[in-house]
Amino acid sequence: MRSVERAAENESTFREVNEKLEKRADELALTGGRTPYLCECDDERCTQVVLLTGEEYEQVRAGPRTFLLVADHQSPDDRVVRTEAGYVVIEKTGEKGTLVEQRYPRR
Ligand SMILES: [Zn+2]
Repeated sequence: MRSVERAAENESTFREVNEKLEKRADELALTGGRTPYLCECDDERCTQVVLLTGEEYEQVRAGPRTFLLVADHQSPDDRVVRTEAGYVVIEKTGEKGTLVEQRYPRR
């Protein structure tokens, strides 16, 4: 597998895990509080989390190419959409953008 495909695969996997975490948070009625979401960077060994409200997570997940990262975990080809306290929202560009869009879990 080429590195761009593997990176897109890792990022998409983190996104899918976070989608499950969000459902679980809803079930537990924790929506007023903050839930730990995994950093969605392309490093498969990264286990850092970002604490977000359900609303903040929804804003990240609204786009098929946007990802949630711990600050400074972005790659040079990521376009930073928003910088918040402790995390950044980035958009995948180029071929990576196309690959992650194909795996967008919400259609
Ligand atoms: Zn990371």
